[in-house]
Amino acid sequence: MADPEVLREGDDGYDAARRVWNAMVDRRPASIVRCRTAPDVAAAIALARTEDLEIGVRCGGHGIVGHAVPDGGLMIDLSPMGGVHVDAQQQRARVQGGALLGALDAATQPHGLATTAGNVSHTGVGGLTLGGGMGWLARQHGLACDNLLSAEVVTAAGDVVRASAEENAELFWGLRGGGGNFGVVTEFEFRLHRTGTRALSVELDFPVAEAMTPATRWRDLGADAPRPATLTASVAGGVATLGLVWVGDPDEGRRYARSLDPLGHPMARRDVELSYLDLQRRDDDRQGHRQRRYWKGHYLPDLPDDAIAALLASDPSFAASLQAYGGAIADVPDDATAFGHRSAAFEYVGAARWTDPAEDDARLATARRSAAALAPYASGVYVNALSDDGADGLRRAYPRAALARLTALKDAVDPGNAFHLNHNVAPSSAGTVLRAT
Ligand SMILES: Cc1cc2nc3c(=O)[nH]c(=O)nc-3n(C[C@H](O)[C@H](O)[C@H](O)COP(=O)(O)OP(=O)(O)OC[C@H]3O[C@@H](n4cnc5c(N)ncnc54)[C@H](O)[C@@H]3O)c2cc1C
Repeated sequence: MADPEVLREGDDGYDAARRVWNAMVDRRPASIVRCRTAPDVAAAIALARTEDLEIGVRCGGHGIVGHAVPDGGLMIDLSPMGGVHVDAQQQRARVQGGALLGALDAATQPHGLATTAGNVSHTGVGGLTLGGGMGWLARQHGLACDNLLSAEVVTAAGDVVRASAEENAELFWGLRGGGGNFGVVTEFEFRLHRTGTRALSVELDFPVAEAMTPATRWRDLGADAPRPATLTASVAGGVATLGLVWVGDPDEGRRYARSLDPLGHPMARRDVELSYLDLQRRDDDRQGHRQRRYWKGHYLPDLPDDAIAALLASDPSFAASLQAYGGAIADVPDDATAFGHRSAAFEYVGAARWTDPAEDDARLATARRSAAALAPYASGVYVNALSDDGADGLRRAYPRAALARLTALKDAVDPGNAFHLNHNVAPSSAGTVLRAT
């Protein structure tokens, strides 16, 4: 078998391969190994060991802090592994480790099938699923990681193993929420659902100054919302947008959307029926590449009036959003996967984007201040929304028992912490860490 292609500074394609979604990430790996197979990945790990290079693993390149791109290290670039194979009869999809969500949806939807994937099609299946994976189908069918049936993994030792409920079950537990800590996943096998192809989005805009009452009424819908509905809210530029996304029969969605009528008199209302594929691509441009980005996240177990007031008081230059959890996400026992926080009612993401590096400090300060106002109401954070939160972030991302279990798994499968460029679960013998991140 041919050796994988290796790109170094000055090679054609090197700059394109090192660029990721967040323009704040501008790092130069010593080597970028473009992997096409699991043995390529094993060869890349061996090369990193020989040359004593830190390893970064890249799928979609949407990790907020850009762990995928190690400065002076070795980037395992999985983007050539973007294939998806659907078995419509068995309702299964086999997805290569570098695939984007758009490829997954494009392969499943012609069969009227889908599985939970995130809301922006250029995000990677890899990082999203390994962190948990929230999307418009999650209240009906669970998180992306809840639909994972098995994974092919290249370990730090270079072995290619399978993880599922029956095989390497502890590794399978850790892959479902524990991030990229335990190996390189070269194939994900997902369960698919008969979702149909239609969706509905309803959005009501209110001036922020008049949004308190509508927002409390919107919040009160949450407890009884049917599973096809995901309540959404965002606050940006002086406008509060309250609404929902419905995946399934749009007429049924329209009937349920009448429950938004009592929110009040919005300055604008958009009821949009669209295909599931268009829903999945709807935010692609707004969430486009090569802008400077900074995110903060929280899980909110409920949404008291004071938290709503804090949300509405967010800096207008900053986009704050809420997405409802519950439904099938909460059906799964807390200890069934490394992903915890299943009792969250809402996920909060505060997102700043800008282009001028001279604004970096001011933008980060505003983002931190706005997100800190929600912290008193938070129960934790989604690991995939962590940014510069350090060890404290990890403690917020995982309940204590889960973090202990993740550490034991790390000890077993990656005691030398070869995979440490991630939200790192360090092995208990922390002295063996290759290098500080
Ligand atoms: C625009 C945008 C929209 C988003 N929307 C959602 C959403 O709707 N729902 C949601 O849950 N999250 C969402 N996220 C968060 C997203 O899940 C994380 O940013 C995730 O890390 C992105 O994965 P990636 O593969 O694109 O990123 P990468 O930067 O390529 O990977 C991130 C990390 O994941 C690990 N990793 C990735 N692939 C593999 C693999 N195959 N094997 C081993 N380790 C791997 C590595 O540690 C890597 O550093 C969004 C992020 C962005 C930027």
